[in-house]
Amino acid sequence: MKQIIKSASLVTLSTLGLCATLPAIASEGASKGEVNLYSARKEALIKPILDEFSEETGIKVNLQTGKADALLKRIQTEGKNTKADLFVTVDAGRLQRAKDAGVLQSINSAKLNGRIPYSLRDKNGQWYGLSKRSRVIVYNKDKVKPSELSTYEDLASPKWKGRICIRSSGNIYNQSLLASMIAHHGKAYALNWAKGIVANMARAPQGNDRAQMKAASAGVCDIAIVNTYYYGNILNSKNLKERKYSKNLGIFFPNQKDRGAHINVSGAGVTKYAKNKENAVKLLEYLTDTTAQEFYADSNNEFPVVNGTRLGATVKSWGKFKEDNLPINKLGKYNADAVKIFDKAGWK
Ligand code: FE
Repeated sequence: MKQIIKSASLVTLSTLGLCATLPAIASEGASKGEVNLYSARKEALIKPILDEFSEETGIKVNLQTGKADALLKRIQTEGKNTKADLFVTVDAGRLQRAKDAGVLQSINSAKLNGRIPYSLRDKNGQWYGLSKRSRVIVYNKDKVKPSELSTYEDLASPKWKGRICIRSSGNIYNQSLLASMIAHHGKAYALNWAKGIVANMARAPQGNDRAQMKAASAGVCDIAIVNTYYYGNILNSKNLKERKYSKNLGIFFPNQKDRGAHINVSGAGVTKYAKNKENAVKLLEYLTDTTAQEFYADSNNEFPVVNGTRLGATVKSWGKFKEDNLPINKLGKYNADAVKIFDKAGWK
């Protein structure tokens, strides 16, 4: 009995001792807590900047990567028990889906509002664009002169019959492109446009954006509709075959004489049940700092969202282009209509 009491008091003493040293540890920056990130962006495209963040702030980042739709489903399923504090995903349509699913919360940050243009973030602060991409025309230089290209609208004209490669309508990038047509021209016009594109397809939709460019290069079609970073990524690919087939392809930004080329984003939002909200906001703000913006955009051949940030060499080589400044929350707003119109148009 004496022995047990002795042990207990020793434990108490050591516990008190530990407590006494805690403030000292915290003030040295060794214990600034953590933040849990669920990211649809691949590890290589974000990890280096997270490591910098941890080094500068002392906040540990736990990174969980996965497919965009699966991660959203996971956050929904986990509900209040979710570990996710910050959700990083691609496409305004998906960011809006996350908002509609009720898994995000509104953030009011003067820094985020000051640095990210209004058209590239949710008006309630539930998500913020972090990098920009455009959905453009990549053409086979042996078959198409850039002077023949003009607008997205023109791609539905009979002159392009049997010449277009584009992926399926289940793809969010195409849904967002069609949503932008709805926003600009209305549903009836968008349906006719989608029907026109279907009539002009060189083959039934199959494969991803890279597969469309590969087919255009091989002469299966003359033009492919793809996101800019896929073109940038094949130009710089470690894979010799990809670099080779990129050689006879050129890039064209549509609608330069009117509204500008279609713009979309990758972005992030703080989750509704974030246990480390303060750190999640800190990380989100950090991703808009100049160094982070440069890396975050450049690692995937994208464009920074913060005006004045230096561009990567590849995207800079494409020259300045006019961007459609449609508020991108419209892409999410018209997503359901776009899906219905694709179905009506017979776009597989
Ligand atoms: Fe992508």
